[in-house]
Amino acid sequence: MLVLEAKGLTKVYGGRGKVATRALNNLSLQVEKGEFVGIMGPSGSGKTTLLNLLATIDAPTSGAVVIEGKEVSHMRGEELALFRRRRLGFIFQDYNLLDSLTIGENIALPLVLDRVPVKAIKERLRTLAGQLGILDILEKYPYEVSGGQQQRAAAARAIIHEPAVILADEPTGNLDSRSARDLMETLVLLNNLAGVTIVMVTHDAFAASFCSRIQFIRDGQIYTEIRKGASREAFFQQILDVLSLMGGGRNEPLANRG
Ligand code: ADP
Repeated sequence: MLVLEAKGLTKVYGGRGKVATRALNNLSLQVEKGEFVGIMGPSGSGKTTLLNLLATIDAPTSGAVVIEGKEVSHMRGEELALFRRRRLGFIFQDYNLLDSLTIGENIALPLVLDRVPVKAIKERLRTLAGQLGILDILEKYPYEVSGGQQQRAAAARAIIHEPAVILADEPTGNLDSRSARDLMETLVLLNNLAGVTIVMVTHDAFAASFCSRIQFIRDGQIYTEIRKGASREAFFQQILDVLSLMGGGRNEPLANRG
């Protein structure tokens, strides 16, 4: 079943006197329910622009974003805010947890905002935190736990309301390699356990090797796509091969872990 569809997305920045930049050029993408898709490409290829359009944070110049059969690219105001809150989950590079709330309160926030009964919230929180192995930090504040634990809490917050899709923007960007592996294993667990659909932008080949499919973007268009076969290690090598073939951005060193 199709969960997310980008149809002929074009995004032009600037114009009217300024130099116009075509960040996306008629890009189409389809994501099935339960997929874990990575988006990779050199610096300036349009990854952030694409994620912002999928996240409904920005609107395309032309084309459409369809999520669960609804055309979100033309929603406005309250309808859009509700859709974003209920049907999307976000994971950012810098965790974005609220300092004044405990880890548990942060994770529960999407349900609290939706006025889910307290008892149901508590049950869901305990189940999820148990699955992610973070029951012991629910009472702590973000500054009392490690970056890796904060990001696992952010992953829990992104999924607690059972969104149509989780959008992740460089989620391992601030993590050491051990925590990066932990987080990727957590995302794979959520992907397998809950069948949640994930779309992740990353320039880290190691993180990308946990995905089931990678879409490579160059100059605002799909360059190629590869799918994971038998092993993550082989997929990692395949990703490095495509990256070196397409040429990296100047500021994006390739990860040499595996
Ligand atoms: P990536 O995330 O792959 O590095 P971006 O989506 O950030 O790529 O950028 C794609 C292109 O669009 C780049 O040429 C970038 O300079 C340009 N761009 C991105 N955001 C803006 C903006 N707000 N205004 C003007 N140009 C932009």
